[in-house]
Amino acid sequence: MKRGTVCPPRFTYMKSLVRSTLCALYKYSGAMSLREKIERLGGHSFVVVLLFHRVTDEIPEDALTVGTRFFRKLCLMLRNRFRVMSLAEAMDMNRQGQPFPARSVVITFDDCYHNNLWAARTLAEYGLPACFFMPSGYVDTERVFPWDAGLRSMPNLSWADVREMAALGHEIGSHTVNHVDMAKVSDDEARRELAESKRTIEEHVGQPVRWFAFPFGGKANCADEHFCPMIHELGYDACFSGHGGFIHAGSQEQVLPRQPIPTFDSLIHLELFLNGSLGWIQSLKRKVGLV
Ligand SMILES: [Zn+2]
Repeated sequence: MKRGTVCPPRFTYMKSLVRSTLCALYKYSGAMSLREKIERLGGHSFVVVLLFHRVTDEIPEDALTVGTRFFRKLCLMLRNRFRVMSLAEAMDMNRQGQPFPARSVVITFDDCYHNNLWAARTLAEYGLPACFFMPSGYVDTERVFPWDAGLRSMPNLSWADVREMAALGHEIGSHTVNHVDMAKVSDDEARRELAESKRTIEEHVGQPVRWFAFPFGGKANCADEHFCPMIHELGYDACFSGHGGFIHAGSQEQVLPRQPIPTFDSLIHLELFLNGSLGWIQSLKRKVGLV
């Protein structure tokens, strides 16, 4: 069943079933691999940066949450059928103008939920690197995000957890100190959030923080790229949104897109999305203003 929906369950289930069936027909008819080959021959290459928040069975799946069973299946699919790379590798390729290998994917997480430690260990089991973006003022505290008020309590990572994640080979990025909406803060406050978060994470983890992810991640929350020069001036190498999209080879976008994950009916639906098979639907939706 589709995650994070507000449709009646029966309607959602039918819609999900129809979509998954169409995806399976497309894949097993051979059309999918033919289209991928044609795209590669045409010189098209891209990487999809996935965005997760919580991986837990303690609350129902929703717009920010996937269950552990789904996550393991996803790891298996990514390991077997995709080329998962670190954010550093993807960004180096982009900077050098290299084409991305077929089916390139990067995995990222936001918001320092403690269940990210389980996810980090599970990813390491599958040999998959990831980058975890930390709002540093929440790590090792009992602070609760406003949207989680009323939900079952979900602890935050400690700094020892974050160090373990880094030791597993994962990257750690900044997500400000206080998870502020960058479109609503002054330049001085933005500078403080960016600089202090980077410094604090580097002190605790002992590795440079190269990446920044805008909290909330919508187009309106990324401050119309207003802060991009400041982000680079403070020592970050790239910054990311969270409203979806692919990074095409040689992209000059200042704020690079990430794709939120709990928006897919099934693994096969996700596989087709990640390999670009559903790109024409996204373009159509963009044209009619649905995304
Ligand atoms: Zn966030």
